Amino acid sequence: MKDGSKIIHEGSHVDHHMVTKAKTMPIYETSVFVYDNLEQVDDYLGGNKDNYMYTRLENPNQRNLEQAISSIEGAEDTVVVSSGMAAINTALMALLSSGDHILVNEEAYGGTISLINQELSRFGIEVTYVSMKDMTHLEKAIKDETKLILTESVTNPLLSVVDVKEIGALAKKYELYLVVDNTFMTPILYKPIEDGADLVLHSLTKYMNGHSDVTAGAISGELTLIDTCRRVYRSTGASINPLEAWLVARGLKTLSLRMKAHSANAMSISQFLENHKKVKKVFYPGLKNHQGHHLASTMFTEGFSGMMSFELDTDLDGVNEFIKGLNMVTFAPSLAGIATTISHPAKTSHRGLSEEKRNELGIFDGTIRLSIGIEDVEDIREDLSNALDKIK
Ligand SMILES: *Cc1c(COP(=O)(O)O)cnc(C)c1O
Repeated sequence: MKDGSKIIHEGSHVDHHMVTKAKTMPIYETSVFVYDNLEQVDDYLGGNKDNYMYTRLENPNQRNLEQAISSIEGAEDTVVVSSGMAAINTALMALLSSGDHILVNEEAYGGTISLINQELSRFGIEVTYVSMKDMTHLEKAIKDETKLILTESVTNPLLSVVDVKEIGALAKKYELYLVVDNTFMTPILYKPIEDGADLVLHSLTKYMNGHSDVTAGAISGELTLIDTCRRVYRSTGASINPLEAWLVARGLKTLSLRMKAHSANAMSISQFLENHKKVKKVFYPGLKNHQGHHLASTMFTEGFSGMMSFELDTDLDGVNEFIKGLNMVTFAPSLAGIATTISHPAKTSHRGLSEEKRNELGIFDGTIRLSIGIEDVEDIREDLSNALDKIK
């Protein structure tokens, strides 16, 4: 071979003849796999899961991550996709058809609401948004066309705790699918499948990966439902790339340790804020006076996660002074990484809502969302305390 050909082929097959296996999952950064003969093609199309063809369809790094998530979620199977939003879209496309009606928690993630209102509505999906803080409204909103209930286990930014078990029983009675976005809790702290969820969704971008360096999503559930989700993501091209799947699988290895640290730090910070004279109100499911504390105590026995919010007794200028007064803690409109971050719902995640609707949901100009990291808790407390002192 000439040099131009050699550089393309030489050395690229060393791993095809390896005697010992890699201790750590290698990154299969390849778009396609090679076949020695037509029998291998038949074997792949016959469903052999050790055989791969094309990375949009599947890849060993995707498979590795899917198995890891299924094992902690208590699910028969999982599909991983390119973002949390891709997971929500894939799940809804898999379960719904034109003419169907769905019930969605009025406190759902903003991206979920945009997806439904702007895109799925154009394909004949009808929606009713319902408060799921308690069960008073849900059953009344069910119609003949209702097919599915969608909620988060704990909502953003006021940490309303949703009684998934009660809703699961209702879904069963009316033969509806129950889809639960468990991003805020993770399967370490809560497994919605045990309480009747048909599909569990995650933005892997958040705690599951945990390091604020990947965008990814997952759907877990029964084999038959996940097979349909897999068909949809393959057709729509929502696949995760191998490096990102590898990074999430790596992040997951410390998920259990991280969730304990996030929960312990958040408990401590919520108590500090609750006793601070410039703080009007603190929202954390671990606090006794939180709306959903009793329910949370029965659902989350290992900790209440690291998400909380609080209301400052000030206006936007005061909030800005607080943000500028922070040193270690950064303002970042995402959440659930190892570093503590704050966000301002009225100016970011809930900006699209009218002020009236925000206030109705309990979100005001003084509302600040905290994603408590795993730093030394003394440092988090000191930084927040210094910044609170700077508010006039
Ligand atoms: C971030 C988030 C999503 C969307 O996930 P992406 O990975 O950003 O697409 C969905 N649900 C919840 C609860 C989230 O926090």
